[in-house]
Amino acid sequence: MTETSGKIREKPIRILTFDVEEWFHLLDNESTKTVVEWSRYESRIHRNMERITDLLQKRRQLATFFCLGWVARKYPEVIRNLANQGYEIGSHGDMHQLVYEQNPGEFRKDLEASINVLEDITGKPVRYYRAPGFSVRKDNVWAFEILAECGIELDCSIFPVPRAHGGFPSYREPVPSILRYRGVQLRELPMSYATVAGRPLVFSGGGYFRLAPYGLIKRWTSGSGYVMTYLHPRDFDASQPKIDGLSSVRTFKSYVGLSGALRKIERWITDFPFVDIGTAAEMIDWEAVPVIELK
Ligand SMILES: [Zn+2]
Repeated sequence: MTETSGKIREKPIRILTFDVEEWFHLLDNESTKTVVEWSRYESRIHRNMERITDLLQKRRQLATFFCLGWVARKYPEVIRNLANQGYEIGSHGDMHQLVYEQNPGEFRKDLEASINVLEDITGKPVRYYRAPGFSVRKDNVWAFEILAECGIELDCSIFPVPRAHGGFPSYREPVPSILRYRGVQLRELPMSYATVAGRPLVFSGGGYFRLAPYGLIKRWTSGSGYVMTYLHPRDFDASQPKIDGLSSVRTFKSYVGLSGALRKIERWITDFPFVDIGTAAEMIDWEAVPVIELK
């Protein structure tokens, strides 16, 4: 029996977002941890981004791109192309490090570096943020105060289910909300899930999206009033090299379903209307959403 969460309005909201990073930006893994390790790998970002933007252009589909500052500095043309094609640019941080492994000062520095380079390239303020690996948890909600102080108005870092790098299971429902923490306020568009046999099941991002058969994705999408996605350039790159040293579970999650993913997302955005974050924010009645007081 399948139920879905998030039915809080008449018109379903389905939001298409991508995290702009290289194929080797895998978290929690020694051989891809820092810029020292990254320098050993070939760049595949141009081909991989083209694959996505070609599809979006073909389907006239809007989307929001959370971009790494590191990518923006190294390949400003990637960000410029997105902005010129009318896509929204948010921050995915600068150096793709887990937020709960940083102290507040380090987090602020990383965030500001990403915002500065993205704003320099696009000439527009950066108002949206998603943490690498959704790594804002109950124990590092101080990050929300820093985000607000740095001009972020809307966050997408909450993953309301337990997961390897974070997860915020005490967040109530996978629906838009207002977060309040120490006098600051942020709009939150968390990751979404379907409820299957009483359990939350993520289906609309990364390895979960690649793994789930399209028939199920379609069914869960139809039944959800709110669907948030997170996809990466590498999710559609079937010929990317294998990274050494991953556990068998990580290897499976990193490489399952790559070859069918492009066809799958094309069917998905053809079968359902998706919007970018700016459009979603206008559709949502922010006066009516839950207010989450964080401590
Ligand atoms: Zn990432």
